[in-house]
Amino acid sequence: MAVKDIIDALKGISIDNTKLSDLIKDIKLIGSSLEVVYRLPKKGLEEDIKQKTYQALESVPDVKSVNIRFIEGSPEPPTAFGQPAFTRRRVEGVKYLIAVGSGKGGVGKSTVAANLAVALLKSGYRVGLLDADIYGPSVPTLLGVKGERIHVDERNRLIPVEKYGLKVLSIGFLLPSEDTPVIWRGPMLMKALTQFLFDVNWGELDFLILDLPPGTGDVQLTLAQNVHMTGAIIVTTPQDVALADVKKATAMFKEVDVPVLGVIENMAYFVCPESGKKYYVFGKGKVMEFARAYNLQVLGSIPMDPEVAETSDVGMPVTLAHPESEVSKAFFSIAKLISERILRR
Ligand code: ADP
Repeated sequence: MAVKDIIDALKGISIDNTKLSDLIKDIKLIGSSLEVVYRLPKKGLEEDIKQKTYQALESVPDVKSVNIRFIEGSPEPPTAFGQPAFTRRRVEGVKYLIAVGSGKGGVGKSTVAANLAVALLKSGYRVGLLDADIYGPSVPTLLGVKGERIHVDERNRLIPVEKYGLKVLSIGFLLPSEDTPVIWRGPMLMKALTQFLFDVNWGELDFLILDLPPGTGDVQLTLAQNVHMTGAIIVTTPQDVALADVKKATAMFKEVDVPVLGVIENMAYFVCPESGKKYYVFGKGKVMEFARAYNLQVLGSIPMDPEVAETSDVGMPVTLAHPESEVSKAFFSIAKLISERILRR
């Protein structure tokens, strides 16, 4: 069940000559709990709208609780897709926001995010990298900006750090020390993340790469529901355990109508430096097979290369340190594919 099914159900019921779906200002589905904010076209209609919503939702399985709120005002005009305009916020100054997610940790999501950001930068775009991986922010290490102090501008917006021409902001900058576990929970965490997303002086960017926390918990879902994303990329290794979680990540983005641009296969193979022979350490063709089954595009395959880890550890992504290497070429070709596809739209 997706938000789209709920909107479809609400389309079928009108109040005061207006479809319920056209009154939606915001809609969120977290697990089986639905939250709807309606624009109230006329005072006194609240109870009627609530009853009709419950009635419409009887045909939608799995919605266990509904919380309905109202704000006053005239209905939003439908968008070009015939759906109501959601209150997803755009990040100021950013043309295209690409979220990089993964079903599980340790598959190289942050490494891919950082190298894609560099590859886009070196292709001539203005790029920012936002590390929202609250469970293990690694961008400060990957880009050698650990321990940076963050300043704010006259509007109290965070000012990203500049490194190699990239604008960089990491939730890690806001933690007292590297070893401090993130103990924020629920609303407090979301408040911090929201400030972190929207109150930033990015200047003008073509692309903002958002490094999401791994997995598909509430944090990822809430971010995907509240931030206007151009699309999402899912990073995986070709192992069955990782692929099983890619299914969940894909379903999450689809549920909240964020287009999945495709999958990146990381650590796809290892090239023996002596013989030049390729070894498919985790298996060959699995990601392609998986992508075909789920109608996803494989954006590219990144080899496993010790240089990736070495360069990351010294704070210079491999795409900068060794731009001619096979692994860097893979990143550049993915960056080209993504940027061309987005710009063509
Ligand atoms: P995640 O963000 O998914 O938790 P990381 O980006 O932190 O994963 O990567 C996990 C580890 O794997 C890091 O030590 C990183 O340097 C290493 N790594 C990632 N991609 C590659 C690769 N293609 N070749 C070799 N090592 C890699």
